[in-house]
Amino acid sequence: MKNAGRIDGRTQLIGLLATPIGHSLSPAMHNLAFEKLGLNNAYMAFEVGNEQLEEVVRGMHALNIRGYNVSMPNKTAILQYLDELDDSAKFTGAVNTVVNTDGKLKGYSTDGSGYVRNLQEHGIDLKGKKMTLVGSGGAATPIAIEAARAGLAEISIFARNDQFFARAEENVRIINEEMKHAQVKANIYALEDQEKLREEILTSHIFANGTGVGMKPLEGKSVIEDVSMLRSDLIVTDVVYSPAKSKLMEQAESVGATAINGLGMMLWQGALAFELWTGQEMPVAYIKEQLF
Ligand code: NAD
Repeated sequence: MKNAGRIDGRTQLIGLLATPIGHSLSPAMHNLAFEKLGLNNAYMAFEVGNEQLEEVVRGMHALNIRGYNVSMPNKTAILQYLDELDDSAKFTGAVNTVVNTDGKLKGYSTDGSGYVRNLQEHGIDLKGKKMTLVGSGGAATPIAIEAARAGLAEISIFARNDQFFARAEENVRIINEEMKHAQVKANIYALEDQEKLREEILTSHIFANGTGVGMKPLEGKSVIEDVSMLRSDLIVTDVVYSPAKSKLMEQAESVGATAINGLGMMLWQGALAFELWTGQEMPVAYIKEQLF
C-alpha cells in the first residue's frame, strides 16, 4: 500500500538543520518526491544553529533518524559529530548530507556532485576539459573539488582578496597534491586581475561563477566586466538560480554561449542526497516541472 501524503506509525523522518531556514526549497522538493514514489518518509526543516547542533545530532541519533541535510551555518560545525566522511566531504571540509547506517553517521557533500551531474544532464562531460571558476566559498569549493574529481585536465580559480582567499589556496593545494591520480592541474589567480581572467577563459571550455554575484544584494552585477571575454563555444554556468537569468546568464546568451543557471545544481544536490537516504532515484524531471 502506498503511504503517499500521510504520516503513520512507520513514517521515517528526514531533516534539514540550518538557520535561517524558512526560504528553503528542500522540504517541498523531497516531500513531493516521497509522495510521487510512494515512500513512507517525511522531510522537515528545523531551525538549528551551531549552539544547538550537538544536542540535535544526539537527539536525531537517539531517534534513529535515517538522515538529514545540513546547511549554513552548520556545514563545517557538523564534522566533529560524525563517525565517517565521504571523500566529497573530506576534500571540501564541509557536509551537506548526513546518513545514519546502523547508528554510524557518515557525512557527504553532494553540492559538487550535483553540479557535475547537472552538466552531464546537459550532455557535458568534464573529462580532459579546462574550467575557469570564480569563488572559493560554500558553493564554489565543492564545484572545484568535484569537477577536478570528474576528470578536468585543468582548473583556474579566481578569488577576490577577501576572507575566502585562503580557502581558494587550500582548494588548489588539495587538487594539486591530494588528487595526483586525477591528472588535473589547478591554478590560482586574483579576481582583480581581469586581464588574466580574460586569458584563462580564452583557453577554457567552461566558465563557472561560484559566487553570489548576480543575486540579491548583488542582482544585476556580474563577475565579468567585459562581455567580450565570453564566446559562443563557451559553456557558462552560474550557481545563482534566483533570478533564473542572472546578469552573467544574460551576457552568456548575448554571445550565443551555452548558459546553465544554478537550478539544476540545486535540484541534483538534493537528488543525490535523496538517493543516499532512500536508495532510490529522485524523479528530478517531475520535481522540476511541478515546482519550478
Ligand atoms: P559564501 O559566502 O560561502 O562564498 C561567497 C563567495 O563569493 C566567496 O568566494 C567570495 O569571495 C565571493 N564573493 C562575494 N562577493 C563577491 C564580489 N562582490 N565579487 C567577487 N566575489 C565575491 O557563499 P556560498 O554559500 O558559496 O553562496 C554563493 C552563491 O551560491 C549564493 O548566491 C548562493 O545562493 C548560491 N548557491 C547555489 C547553490 C546551488 O545549488 N545552485 C548551492 C549553494 C549556494
